[in-house]
Amino acid sequence: MRLRFAPSPTGYLHVGGARTALYNWLLARRHQGSFILRIEDTDISRSTEEAIQAIMEDLRWLGLDWDEGPEVGGRHFPYRQTGRYALYRDAAMRLLRDGKAYPCFCEPEELAERRREALKEGRSPMYDRRCLSLSEAEREARIRSGIPYALRFLVPEGEVTFTDLVRGEITFRNRDIEDFVLLRSDGSATYNLAVVVDDLDMEITHVVRGDDHLSNTPKQILLYRALGAEPPAFAHLPMIVARDGRPLSKRHGDVSVGSFREKGYLPEAMVNFLALLGWSLDDSTTIMDRRTLIENFSLERVSSKPAVWDEDKLLWMNSQYIMALGDRELAERVFPFLVRAGLVKDDDQKAFEVLLKATPLLRERIKVLGDAVHLVRFLFQEVDIEDDARTVLEDEVSERVLREAGKGLLELKEFTAPHIETTLREMAERLGLKPRQAFQPIRVAITGRKVSPPLFESMELLGRERCLQRIARAMESL
Ligand code: GLU
Repeated sequence: MRLRFAPSPTGYLHVGGARTALYNWLLARRHQGSFILRIEDTDISRSTEEAIQAIMEDLRWLGLDWDEGPEVGGRHFPYRQTGRYALYRDAAMRLLRDGKAYPCFCEPEELAERRREALKEGRSPMYDRRCLSLSEAEREARIRSGIPYALRFLVPEGEVTFTDLVRGEITFRNRDIEDFVLLRSDGSATYNLAVVVDDLDMEITHVVRGDDHLSNTPKQILLYRALGAEPPAFAHLPMIVARDGRPLSKRHGDVSVGSFREKGYLPEAMVNFLALLGWSLDDSTTIMDRRTLIENFSLERVSSKPAVWDEDKLLWMNSQYIMALGDRELAERVFPFLVRAGLVKDDDQKAFEVLLKATPLLRERIKVLGDAVHLVRFLFQEVDIEDDARTVLEDEVSERVLREAGKGLLELKEFTAPHIETTLREMAERLGLKPRQAFQPIRVAITGRKVSPPLFESMELLGRERCLQRIARAMESL
């Protein structure tokens, strides 16, 4: 099996595109086939180099490696449409010679005007084949006099039937398909021509893509036949919708793979979640590692019904994956987030060791890696007491608590979590306070926040000196 992912680099990688890439990749890996990355940059005005780089970075982050494509090469080089114009032109010229395409001299404004009129009069707005009826002599004359022209495909009569591997048998009537453009008057190829020429040349056996392309499929099948080739198999994946039933878009929040990476979703959670957007293993299994996905993925279990994007589920899944990470691995994944937040330098080994010790305190308190930044900030930076935490200090017992705690901690022989705990509990009892009431001002003084990792462990990590300094500073600020 030879499969491809063929993004148009006009922006970031959308989660829907990532799912398409994933399904192609899973099929290729399951069947020991090839997964090809092809950049569809024929729309030069909207394609950018940054988008190409960003898409490749996101694919790599998800672990979707390609066997042929940019940066890895392959025998169908180049894997960017801008380098493949000659192939498209050759194919178009062949169709012209065979009488399966014809030049069209109609100008865009003219076409738009005729479309408007047709719609107004309740006629079909499809191209009216005006240029098909030109005589051979007239055609020659126009070409010779340098009038620019596009090349249109001559859609034959009949119908196109194919068996979609997700949706079953589908039939389109050819009379509903207009003579679509193959080459524009500036010589550039349209999507439908380029994609067919490329899929043929790259020997693609299965085209697996979003169902927004379903209406292109009959056109492409007609082109394959006109070029004397067998079309590949097609599978159109269900649309991804938000909970309001509308196609998932920016309006619903973040939809780019990059934004999830930046918040600290794990690629393995993302892959697991994306896999379940339209496919299932059975009716109950949700957490599946990459190997399980590869061993079990099949188009037969892809649904044709829209898949609902549920970000709460993604968040939950991510927390499950975080919980399963070992200390060192979690620390290694969190560390870059601290670097990015400016809390530590990326070569600070000591800071990493501190984080590593704090990791067991974090694991159950974060759902995305980015959550860790605020929770451990106090270990790496002097604290600024957050506004809503300040109210805790304003409570009248706070000053007494802080003073007593300071004394107790100063006298402690061993500054370890169990000893800190014993001392502070005794203090609370002495002052006639509930533990929570007594610990909260200390937490705020030490971490600057009302919510933090476990207090006594955090204090041990921070060390006696810094704890005492922070308690003193909080008292001064009262
Ligand atoms: N370049 C097209 C897109 O990004 C994909 C076309 C295809 O998969 O055939 O939508």
